[in-house]
Amino acid sequence: MASPFERKQRIAVLGGGPGGYEAALAGAQLGADVTLVERSGVGGSAVLTDVVPSKTLIATAEAAGGIRETTELGVRFYSRGESGRAVRPDVAVNLAAVNDRLLRLSRQQSEDMKSNLIRAGVQIVTGEGRLDGPQRLVVSTGGGRSTKRTDFDEIDADTVVVAVGASPRVLPSAVPDGERILTWTQLYNLQDVPDHMIVVGSGVTGAEFASAYLALGSQVTLISSRDQVLPGEDADAARVLEDVFRRNGMEVLSKSRAEQVTNTGDGVLVHLADGRDVTGSHCLLAVGSVPNTAGIGLEEAGVQLAPTGHIRVNRVARTSMPSIYAAGDCSDFLPLASVASMQGRTAVYHAMGDAVNPTELRNVTSNIFTQPEIATVGWSQRQIEEGLAQGDIYKLPLSSNPRAKMMGIRDGFVKLFARTGSGTVIGGVVTAPMASELVLPIALAVEHRLTVDQLARAFSVYPSLSGSITDAARAMHIVA
Ligand SMILES: Cc1cc2nc3c(=O)[nH]c(=O)nc-3n(C[C@H](O)[C@H](O)[C@H](O)COP(=O)(O)OP(=O)(O)OC[C@H]3O[C@@H](n4cnc5c(N)ncnc54)[C@H](O)[C@@H]3O)c2cc1C
Repeated sequence: MASPFERKQRIAVLGGGPGGYEAALAGAQLGADVTLVERSGVGGSAVLTDVVPSKTLIATAEAAGGIRETTELGVRFYSRGESGRAVRPDVAVNLAAVNDRLLRLSRQQSEDMKSNLIRAGVQIVTGEGRLDGPQRLVVSTGGGRSTKRTDFDEIDADTVVVAVGASPRVLPSAVPDGERILTWTQLYNLQDVPDHMIVVGSGVTGAEFASAYLALGSQVTLISSRDQVLPGEDADAARVLEDVFRRNGMEVLSKSRAEQVTNTGDGVLVHLADGRDVTGSHCLLAVGSVPNTAGIGLEEAGVQLAPTGHIRVNRVARTSMPSIYAAGDCSDFLPLASVASMQGRTAVYHAMGDAVNPTELRNVTSNIFTQPEIATVGWSQRQIEEGLAQGDIYKLPLSSNPRAKMMGIRDGFVKLFARTGSGTVIGGVVTAPMASELVLPIALAVEHRLTVDQLARAFSVYPSLSGSITDAARAMHIVA
């Protein structure tokens, strides 16, 4: 905390997504004079177009999918037709209402976050910002829309945190029109569930939306340039997901590269590199993101960028210029909201001389919100097989789990990785409904270097899905 005679540290944050938001709050908490510049809304893409709306849509998709699946458990939905006979109703999704709800939730969350910043004493400037050297931001506010001052064209700071995020990558031969050819930021204007959604790209974003629209009732074609969906993720988990997709009627076109997408007026035509054409009603482009780092004065201020345009940072989020830090999707770390937040806080703690734990990417837990979900933490099987870590691998299918049987869950597994010799848990994968919730015990084991024996000794509830985690750990016991 600064004494009354010391000048307060000044922190300027560019971008108000999770990275910038957490950086600003951390600075205010440590007594700095903090200014945050944001051009569209506090919460950033995470809250307004990416995490919050997509996960809210997925919550509806899960509810719709759940209704269909309960018939297996003996639940019957019917009403009486005019003849008095039982009629099975269709599950119908009112997409306009769903989108209305998720946009409302997003706006509300953005407002809540803005209020938190104001309450913490952060000055918010609405406008397009850029760096002017290593310790100054210039903002075009379009008439001074800051919360406290009106003359905020220039913000001098001791430390600048750049957290400008990323935007959907678009291809010159597949230009989004917001009507039928869409990026994920344009999906929420749809009034009706698309008849036939073609999803280009089978990475995390493509797989999540393909899974969601399938459950919402669309016919879905997923175009994947690789031989399996979710390239780079756990291969067993990707296989389970692809099997579920196909079983539920999704067409998965593997090793297929979309070359051109055209709006035909009443639909879309996707032309593949091998000459085939695929037609549908809508096309979602999920072909990655580009960092919003061009033209904002980074290189001129002495900040090194990777060839992809991402800002190079170290484990305390510092760039090549000591007064400038970078957090989130604009940096060359993992593009996750949780990582952005951690980097934002770490950057400010480091800049202000507070205690810092450098970000350990190895311990990051992440989840793919498909049906089933896929949660991972720590080292991957591929890294172990490539010899980057010495580990034993154990996989336990959920089909052997009593609770899974009761709940009608057929797909999925728990997989643990433990250091050869010591049995220390170094990673794991859970493929299951709500895997995002189930993975935490493995994340704790990885973070605190617990052994499989220590993990196995914890009581899990009987019957429970998490029982498969302790069972897998028990199976990995090293006989002395
Ligand atoms: C569809 C989708 C779903 C996702 N789901 C998840 C999930 O479930 N969990 C998860 O952890 N991650 C998820 N992610 C990733 C997550 O959205 C990002 O990692 C997160 O948004 C990164 O936060 P950020 O602070 O770096 O940037 P952003 O959230 O992108 O915020 C950056 C902000 O900077 C502002 N800005 C940019 N340039 C300027 C400028 N020059 N002047 C002023 N303001 C500027 C932008 O307006 C924006 O508000 C998802 C991503 C996508 C695409």
